[in-house]
Amino acid sequence: MMNYIRIRTTKVMLLFMSTLLSAGTIALVSINPALAAAADFGPSNPFFAPSVLPFQAPPFDKIKDEDFQPAIEAGMAQQQAEIQAIANNPDAPTFDNTIVAMEKSGQLLTRVMEVFDGVTGANTNDALQKVKTIEAPKLAAHQDFVYLNTKLFARVAAIYKQRDTLKLDPESLRLLEYDYDKFVHAGANLSEADKTELRKLNEEESSLQDAFINKVRDATKEGAFVTVDKTALAGLSEARIAAAAQAAQSRQFDAFVIPLQNTTQQPDLVSLSNRGTRQTIFERSWNRTERGNANDTRDTIARLAQIRAQKGKLIGFSSFAAWQLEDQMAKTPQAALQFMDAIVPAATAKAASEAKDNQAVIDAQKGGFQLQPWDWNFYAEQVRKARYDLDDTQVKPYFELNNVLQNGVFYAANQLYGLTFKERHDLPVYQPDVRVFEVFDADGKHLALFYCDYFKRDNKNGGAWMSVFVDQSHLLGKLPVVYNVANFSKPAEGEPALISFTDVITMFHEFGHALHGMFADTEYPALSGTATARDFVEFPSQFNEHWARDPLIFAHYAKHYKTGAPMPEELVARLRKSDTFNKGYDMTELLAAAELDMQWHSLPATAPLQNPDEFEKQALDKTHLNVSYVPPRYRSTYFAHIWGGDYCAGYYAYLWTEMLADDAFQWFVDHGGLTRANGDRFRQMVLSRGNTQDLGKMYDAWRGAPPNTKAMLKYRGLEESTSAK
Ligand SMILES: [Zn+2]
Repeated sequence: MMNYIRIRTTKVMLLFMSTLLSAGTIALVSINPALAAAADFGPSNPFFAPSVLPFQAPPFDKIKDEDFQPAIEAGMAQQQAEIQAIANNPDAPTFDNTIVAMEKSGQLLTRVMEVFDGVTGANTNDALQKVKTIEAPKLAAHQDFVYLNTKLFARVAAIYKQRDTLKLDPESLRLLEYDYDKFVHAGANLSEADKTELRKLNEEESSLQDAFINKVRDATKEGAFVTVDKTALAGLSEARIAAAAQAAQSRQFDAFVIPLQNTTQQPDLVSLSNRGTRQTIFERSWNRTERGNANDTRDTIARLAQIRAQKGKLIGFSSFAAWQLEDQMAKTPQAALQFMDAIVPAATAKAASEAKDNQAVIDAQKGGFQLQPWDWNFYAEQVRKARYDLDDTQVKPYFELNNVLQNGVFYAANQLYGLTFKERHDLPVYQPDVRVFEVFDADGKHLALFYCDYFKRDNKNGGAWMSVFVDQSHLLGKLPVVYNVANFSKPAEGEPALISFTDVITMFHEFGHALHGMFADTEYPALSGTATARDFVEFPSQFNEHWARDPLIFAHYAKHYKTGAPMPEELVARLRKSDTFNKGYDMTELLAAAELDMQWHSLPATAPLQNPDEFEKQALDKTHLNVSYVPPRYRSTYFAHIWGGDYCAGYYAYLWTEMLADDAFQWFVDHGGLTRANGDRFRQMVLSRGNTQDLGKMYDAWRGAPPNTKAMLKYRGLEESTSAK
């Protein structure tokens, strides 16, 4: 519904993001809606009125840091007044005077927040961060103001009850159901006693989540490997050793320090030749939050699991997962579990064959030991080198950024959808590295603006993402203004930006999200573009990755930056093969984490407090993922995505959307591949539809069948080992 409120789900991130998303709970606290309208907000503020630039593009040349806070405050006050007016309308509730009116509310807040989120993510500073800190709790309370407004809910519920007699068009009916579900999910339907109970559970959950995040952060810091013995670091490059010495200095140790990363596996294990060091680092990672000290999280997660199960029950579901999946494409935990169970045999078989390869290297070197998790990356790297001997410096000269953009990313969009792109130097940007393109449809019509901001900066968040400055919606007469942000190394002045193949894939991925935003063709902003379910939103992006590897597209962009020569066949072949290297391990560790997430959140409210170690072991045994040499990507006790972040009962979505992307690409392959007819059909039936239809039905209608894992196993290199058993 509310435009601003869906921004959090609009920003779509790369697969393995490290940042914690904001906790997804809606706190049922009573709030004081009387926000003082900011006194210093008036026509001189660049957010006061819609931008007069083409596509209502943000007037970055006029926006100053100090403009944000008064506009955000005034935006909240304005939307609260609008919501009050809707809730208190003396006329009987109608779709127009309630549901559509809500869609039209909050335009100032949306206008400023889309830009604010954009610049605080990609080009922040102390002043902006301060505004963010001050406004974050107010914005959270602002959401509650809408969803806990009993008068407003009564109107929505009254309209919902008459939905069969209203003769609404399908998109309007979908919006009505969507709004109603959102209220119900937030607890609007509960009795006063149950609301009080839910509020208590929310408060406890919220403080336990905070405690969890703090403990994991401190435990991860404390878990760092410290040594005074430089020989323990044998195998690391001089640069890595210097970094370890520097890390020690910043902690005021006279030694070497290797800090822990969030994941179970640690990057330096790939090169550390001292097996004892590898084992110590691995164990410090694995046990970081189970050391019986103040940062032990076992009690915290056991209680969190219980609270969530109780919340699910209060709202009326058999488990927390059942509640969370109701509005997702998968719909039920059973569907997500069945999907994962179906991949397990192929993934673990492939991992077993990779383990054999690794053990063969150990044996050939007369190691005299069985492969353990801390050995995996060290020996896998040797297998990889022996087979492909491929490093980034060989391929990078064929991937010059602007060439990849124009002759790869844009070219694919032209071949599939007929789009053309024209760079615009007349539109203001928030930083000189940002580029703006106007996007034209096949018939020459204006479609969208596309901003890209690819180079790393110190004041930019890590990773890569897509979001919008302006949402498409017919109701509000807006065309989409979308952007992609990444963190590629910036070349020296006058040098070409040569990027890795991983970076190429990232560009196609984020542009897949961008297409989802640019093709949006919906009436209501709440259902537009990427505002879909978590287990759907990464589908268009991962689907678009496939075109980076398509032989026709690849040949069109992979050309030497100096000579224009195509990449030699032999190098292409090695690049392709290395693309599926180690996928058995990767898939198995992801599956293990996703299964843990789903098992924890499938506990019924009646289940007693769990012992996390026993629970984890049983959950992995039960799903055939207790594989000695492939531990879960995150252990339960430091799985921040699910306990501190927004992925509770949602980690499977990464794999689910991979399935959709691969299954969809297979449809293209089976129907002639890269053609306008195929592209247009996909655009018309999927990419332009946002969340206006049931996502499963939308997919099946386009595909002609429900998705399955066959193509996924093939494209992830897992097919062979299943047939070989
Ligand atoms: Zn993504």
